[in-house]
Amino acid sequence: MRPRPFPNTLRGVLIGLAVCLGVAAAQRAPDAELRLLRPELLALTCPERIWTQPPTEAQRLAAARREAFRALLPEYLARLPAEPDDVLFMPVDGVRVAQVADTWGAPRGGGRRHEGQDVFAARGTPIRSATHGIVFEVSDRFTGGRGVMVLGPGGVRYFYTHFDAYAAGLREGMAVSPDTILGYVGTAGNAAGTPPHLHFGAYAFDPETCRHRAFDPLPLMVDRDRLAQQ
Ligand SMILES: [Zn+2]
Repeated sequence: MRPRPFPNTLRGVLIGLAVCLGVAAAQRAPDAELRLLRPELLALTCPERIWTQPPTEAQRLAAARREAFRALLPEYLARLPAEPDDVLFMPVDGVRVAQVADTWGAPRGGGRRHEGQDVFAARGTPIRSATHGIVFEVSDRFTGGRGVMVLGPGGVRYFYTHFDAYAAGLREGMAVSPDTILGYVGTAGNAAGTPPHLHFGAYAFDPETCRHRAFDPLPLMVDRDRLAQQ
C-alpha cells in the first residue's frame, strides 16, 4: 500500500493555522482602513533584547508577550502623525486638571516610583482618550488590572488602568479620538483597597531602541472644555 502523506500535510496545516491564530490573539493589527501616514516606518526594525542574566521563565514569557506587540509596532507607528501631542485632554469626565494632586515620581512599594498621575472619581465615571491615537493593547494582565494602552502621535504610549470595565466595542487596532470612551473608573489590580481612580501614564518613544520611557503627563494636561474651543 502506498503511504498517504495527506493526513500529515493536513496536520501541518492545522498546526500552522493554530500558531497563526495564537499570534493574532496575542496582538491585533491596526484596522485596515487606517491611512498610512508614514509608510517608511513599516521598515522600522527593533533591536533584539539582550539579556544580561539568564531570564526566569516568568521573565521569558513576559518578554515573548512584549515581543509580539513590538513586532506590530511599525504597523501602528506608520499610521500615526510624526509630532507628539502638546496637549492632553483630561481623561476622566467631570474632573478639572487643577484637582489632580501631583504624585509623579512619588515613592511606591518595592522601591518603585509612581510613573504617572492618579485621577480620582466615582466608580464607573467614563474614561476618555486624552489624544487621537490607536488602541495598541487591551489587557487584564497589567499590574493595575484591566487597562488600555493607546499609541498616539509620535509613537507616544498612553496608559490607562484600574478600570472597573472596558467601554463596549473597545478593541485593539481601532482609532480613538479625545471623545472616545475607553472604559470606566474602578479599583482593579494593585488599586484594590484605594478610592476608585484612573492611573494615567505617558511614555515617550525612542525609535533607535524601540523603547518607551515614562514622562510626567500633568504639565501637558488641559481641561476638557478646551476641546470645544478647538
Ligand atoms: Zn497611579
